[in-house]
Amino acid sequence: MADRNTLRRGAETPNPMTDEVAKDLTERWRQKLSTTRMNELQSRSSSPAPRGFASQTPHSAPPPSYSSLRNIPLVPMPPQDHKQLRFKNLMHSLSNMPCRWENPGLLDEALKAIPLEQIYNEAEEESQIFKAEAESLGTGKKPAWGYQDCVVRALLRWFKRSFFTWVNNPPCSQCYSPTIAYGMAAPLPDERARSATQVELYKCSVEECGCYERFPRYNDAFVLLQTRKGRCGEWANCFSMLCRAVGSRVRWVWNSEDHVWTEVYSVHRKRWIHVDSCEEAWDRPRLYTEGWGKKIAYCVAFSADGATDVTRRYVRNILKYGLERTRVPEAVLHYIIAEIRANRRANMSKQDKFRLQGEDMREERELRYNYITAIAQEICKINPEDILKPGNGAGNRRADPDAQKAAEGRQSGEAEWIRRRGEGGRGTPGHQNENPPDLPPR
Ligand SMILES: [Zn+2]
Repeated sequence: MADRNTLRRGAETPNPMTDEVAKDLTERWRQKLSTTRMNELQSRSSSPAPRGFASQTPHSAPPPSYSSLRNIPLVPMPPQDHKQLRFKNLMHSLSNMPCRWENPGLLDEALKAIPLEQIYNEAEEESQIFKAEAESLGTGKKPAWGYQDCVVRALLRWFKRSFFTWVNNPPCSQCYSPTIAYGMAAPLPDERARSATQVELYKCSVEECGCYERFPRYNDAFVLLQTRKGRCGEWANCFSMLCRAVGSRVRWVWNSEDHVWTEVYSVHRKRWIHVDSCEEAWDRPRLYTEGWGKKIAYCVAFSADGATDVTRRYVRNILKYGLERTRVPEAVLHYIIAEIRANRRANMSKQDKFRLQGEDMREERELRYNYITAIAQEICKINPEDILKPGNGAGNRRADPDAQKAAEGRQSGEAEWIRRRGEGGRGTPGHQNENPPDLPPR
């Protein structure tokens, strides 16, 4: 207050300085500011470029001190300490998963495990239904899903209902009784050779039997074609590989709260589609948050083309379902993702790189659109009366348009989740799209 008064007084009273001196001083001050800001900016832009910076001197410039610089987009920052490096190593090691499927010989072999004719027939039939639906809506309407989408949808149904089995505790192989978790064991040489790095041990619950059951956790999708069982890790690994085998571009999505799933690129929709094989879920990215009520910090999608932070696809309401992101500063996550992209795209042609950059930008727009839409929805829920009369309470709240949707999915929780995994009933195909229609053009 005192400052403001002084300032106002200064403006009102005649200035003892001549205009010349004042002008000169102002100009010098402006130049000083400009040079300092320029220097800061240059030191930032000489910081690592987002690609091809494998051998980089550690960048330790302090963040800019001018508030005028705060709105500059996040500049990637290399990991600074042990904890951040560990996260970087984790990301890099996870990013290898989709590369293991890029083996044409093995993918051909994998196709032999699929009843291709049945899947193509189902896909053909369903894509005709989508076409007819679109036509009935009027000329110029695009079918909801294309043929390739329908192939993956048919694959998903077959995989969940007829091929893969969920395993919590494997039953006793001697007397088929339930077993009790006993601990971990070292993999046997043949288990190790088939890609198991961990083996869970279970003991038969029948005293007289006393058998031990081994449950090797195989990492190789092609081994999983034979074992055909596991938990979400095995499901997502094997199913994603099969999507690749039928010719789709595929991503493996890692979630920091211990779940993994698949994303498939829809050429028809020109966007990545959420697919969870354990749940037979197609394009239901809100399943985990609004459905199961889970809180999520990170979802990172890995593909043979790079990595993307896709958290905003799965966590729409950050306030309600977002967990604090404490693994690394956001600038470091940017750096790590840019590094993985650069690695994966290093040997690609200029055109391919350009195309992928375009896709990245398009997806960024989609994710930003999700984010802004969610905020707008939250704002729409605010009742003006609540603001005008504080303490009016939630009783006067407007009906929440999302509440019903969330309630539909809330029949979840861990127990419900497990129960539903055993379910084989045929769901209603094609009408579970929770996403907004395809992106606005810009
Ligand atoms: Zn037994």
